[in-house]
Amino acid sequence: MSFASTHWIIGDGRTGKFWEDRWINGKSIGELAPQLYACVPKQRRKQRTVAEGLLNHNWARDIHGVVGIDEIGQYLRIWRQVQHMTLNDQPDQLIWKWNPSGTYTAKSCYLASFHGSIVCHTWRLIWRTWAPPRVKFFIWLANKDRCWTAERRQRQQLDYHPRCFLCDQGFESMQHLLVQCPFSRQIWYDMLAWLRIPHRPPEDELTLYDWWISAKRATPKPMRKGFASATLLVAWMIWKQRNACLFDKERPSVPQLNARIRDEAVLWARAGALGLRVLIQTDWDVH
Ligand SMILES: [Zn+2]
Repeated sequence: MSFASTHWIIGDGRTGKFWEDRWINGKSIGELAPQLYACVPKQRRKQRTVAEGLLNHNWARDIHGVVGIDEIGQYLRIWRQVQHMTLNDQPDQLIWKWNPSGTYTAKSCYLASFHGSIVCHTWRLIWRTWAPPRVKFFIWLANKDRCWTAERRQRQQLDYHPRCFLCDQGFESMQHLLVQCPFSRQIWYDMLAWLRIPHRPPEDELTLYDWWISAKRATPKPMRKGFASATLLVAWMIWKQRNACLFDKERPSVPQLNARIRDEAVLWARAGALGLRVLIQTDWDVH
């Protein structure tokens, strides 16, 4: 597994290496500023810890050789990124990227080796499924882990709320919100029962996509298109509920969210989601 599978959360800065390790928002200086990185003698790169580098801007003194305009641009960029970084008394933490808990396991390593293909398939789930463009865009961002969950805010060293808005228990990551959260799992459970899809809700899958694949296999063929739309719809509505709790101080309610999901499903079916129309036929007749 390449070193891109790990990154550091810096505490006291004594273990993470300033030049070598991925410690600036999950990236290394070699990735952020390759030309600048090349100006630092190899021996120095290997030894300099984050704490030493930040102390009195020692890192700037590590730069040797011919410094051109590109290097200066990269130097200024790194300067801006590290100047406000502060250390604390916790030990640095190495995070294994392919596992929600951040610790290395053989299973997560095995799954990570398929990551390229997972991205590709998720792409297919997103773009071949009927859903409004903003929903597809959300799923795409969620899949790339670009939504501002507590986990992402923590990684970017911003303030974050300690517990999930929906269950008030877990730590909020996209995987928690869409897969593990007890509140969301209830919503998935109710959706599956409503659409009469014989499958369990998400449980401990790494991504929603993994669950969708196994659920799809359990779904009769004529229902699969509708089920794909319903999956995007529920994920989107969970995210919207979470935002309503955060920004409008709404209280999460399972019956209320279920009702909203059903209304929204009818709107989608009317707007062109033919697969969904098949699935909610009975409700469709009533409306
Ligand atoms: Zn939760």
